[in-house]
Amino acid sequence: MSQTPLIQDEYIEAPGRRILARLQSENDAGRPTVGLYCCFAPLEIIWASGAVPVGLCATSQRTISKAETVLPANLCPLIKSSFGFIFTETCPFYNISEVIVAETTCDGKKKMFELIKDLKPTLVLELPQMPEEETSFQRWLESVGQFKSFLEEAFSREIGPQDLEKAIQEANRRRSLLLEIIGYAKYDPPLINWAEVKEITALAGMFAGREMIEFLVRIGRLLADRRRRASTEERRPLPRIMVTGCPIGGDAEKVFQVIEDLGGAVVAQEACSGLKPLWFNIEEGTADPLAAIARRYFYLPCSCMTPNSRRLTYIDELIETFRPDAVIDVILNGCHTYNIESHLIKKHVTGKFGRPFLKLETDYSEGDLGQLQLRIGALLEMVKG
Ligand code: SF4
Ligand code: SF4
Repeated sequence: MSQTPLIQDEYIEAPGRRILARLQSENDAGRPTVGLYCCFAPLEIIWASGAVPVGLCATSQRTISKAETVLPANLCPLIKSSFGFIFTETCPFYNISEVIVAETTCDGKKKMFELIKDLKPTLVLELPQMPEEETSFQRWLESVGQFKSFLEEAFSREIGPQDLEKAIQEANRRRSLLLEIIGYAKYDPPLINWAEVKEITALAGMFAGREMIEFLVRIGRLLADRRRRASTEERRPLPRIMVTGCPIGGDAEKVFQVIEDLGGAVVAQEACSGLKPLWFNIEEGTADPLAAIARRYFYLPCSCMTPNSRRLTYIDELIETFRPDAVIDVILNGCHTYNIESHLIKKHVTGKFGRPFLKLETDYSEGDLGQLQLRIGALLEMVKG
C-alpha cells in the first residue's frame, strides 16, 4: 500500500534545521530553550516556565573519536557522542540552549556532566537510586523543587501552581493523542512505522500549546484515513518486533532499519527514545501539582534504579498492547545497567510470554551491520516459522 506521508507541513523538510529555526523564533519571542538528555527532566516545569525543552545531540558516531581524546573509549556511545558534540561545539541545540538540565543516572553520565557543567548554567537533578523507598521520594521532590527555582531564577519568572497545572493538563492531552497515533502500530501489519513515530514524538516532546494539539489531531485524521483505505486492501502480516533496552536514535537506528529491511516491523519501542515518556500520565487537579509531577517522574522505570521492578510491569503492558512476535533487547556497548538487566528481561519475556528473545550489543558504528543482519534475519525466519 502506498502511504501518504504523515508529516508534510512545516516540520518535515530537513527536520533538524526547521526545528532549530523554530527554536530560534521561539527564543526571539521570549521563550528560551532548555537543553536536556534524559527522560527524568520534568518537561511540564519547563513548559510552565515559558521555555521550550530540547533533547541534545547524542546519537552520532561522528563526534566519538574527538570525545575519546578525553573520555575512556569503553564508555557507552551515547555519553561519548553527547560529550563529543559539546567538545567540538557542533550541537546546535546545545548552542541555542540557555540552560541545561542534567541528572544523576548512570555513573558515566554523572561524571561526564562534571566536565561540561561550567560551560552553561546547568542543574543536576539528584535522582534517588531506590525508588521504592518513600524517603527517596522526599529527596526527589526537593530536587524537582530546586529545578523549578533554577528555571525561575534563570528566566526571571515565577512558576505558580496554576502554570504547573495547565502544563500538566496539556502534556497529558498530548500524551493521549500521541498514544492514539502510536496505537496504529497495533494493526497487522502496522499502519505507522518507527520513523514516523520518532518524528512525531520528537516534535510533541518540544513544542507545547494549541498548535501542537492541532498538529497531532491532524496526524490522527491522516491515520484514520490510512486505516479506511487499508481495510479495502489485502495486506500481508509482518513479523512484529518489540525493541527494548537502551535509548536508540541516530546511528543506532541501524537496528530498526535492519529489522525493516529484512521484512519485520518495529511495533513498539520500550526505551526513553520510544514509548516511555508517553506511557505514564500525571495526576491532574491535585492540591500540589509540583508533587504530582515529581511523583510521575519518580515512577519512571530506568535501569539506573534498584530494584527496577516497574520496568517488568511496563513491558507486560507493552506486550499485551502491541502483541509482538519477538523481543529484541538492544544494549549499547558499555551500558552495564541495561546489559545486566537484560538477563531478567529475557527470563521474563520468554518465561511469562513465551516470546523469542534476542539480545544485541551494538554501538554507533557500521562495523557490526553484517552481524546484525545475520542475527536479526535468523530471528525473523524463526518467527515466520
Ligand atoms: S535510560 Fe534512564 S538514564 Fe537513560 S535517558 Fe532513559 S531515563 Fe535517562
Ligand atoms: S545507555 Fe546506559 S550507559 Fe549510556 S547513558 Fe544511558 S544508562 Fe548510561
